[in-house]
Amino acid sequence: MTVTRLIFLGPPGAGKGTQAKQLSTFCHVPHISTGDILRAAVAEGTELGKKAQFYMDAGELVPDDLILDLIRERLSAADAASGWILDGFPRNVEQAAFLDTILDTMGQPYDCVVNLDVPDEVIVARLALRGQQEGRSDDAEAVIRNRLEVYRQRTEPLIEFYRNRQQLVSVDGNQPIETVTAELKKIVQI
Ligand code: ADP
Repeated sequence: MTVTRLIFLGPPGAGKGTQAKQLSTFCHVPHISTGDILRAAVAEGTELGKKAQFYMDAGELVPDDLILDLIRERLSAADAASGWILDGFPRNVEQAAFLDTILDTMGQPYDCVVNLDVPDEVIVARLALRGQQEGRSDDAEAVIRNRLEVYRQRTEPLIEFYRNRQQLVSVDGNQPIETVTAELKKIVQI
């Protein structure tokens, strides 16, 4: 058996997306990435995409009023009934409190929170490379620095938030991808 409801924390470029995809296959639950959902909305030119793009390009968090309904709907979808891996949400304390409330209402508590730990200099190098390879406009150097700053200010406090409930596991994300995946697979096995 594996856990079925898992939240990924970690700075931009920590490898959350890569690892969440692997674990999603391993645990047979959908990978829910707010970043992927927002990028798809931008690419499709939807109302949400038009509103979100400005914030994403600046490396700022998209306002909660655009994110909260979106995540509530996504977690209520049929394929999420048996579990999920959340990547990119929650990103601030308000989002974490909101998540608590909806999971409570649904009677679906999360099983664990994984923090992927990676030093700043490694992150900056990885994101700069990704910007070149994938052409992501939010991976330009000035934007990377802002995203890291926003992460420190808004998202990092969630590590304490979850640690206080003793549901947090930290994994060293500065190792080869396969090593990180292997460690994560051990963690999700119950
Ligand atoms: P990374 O993990 O590399 O920062 P993501 O793909 O998770 O990239 O997110 C890209 C951008 O999408 C963020 O910089 C932010 O603007 C927006 N975003 C994603 N998830 C959220 C969220 N939960 N709340 C607010 N903004 C978000």
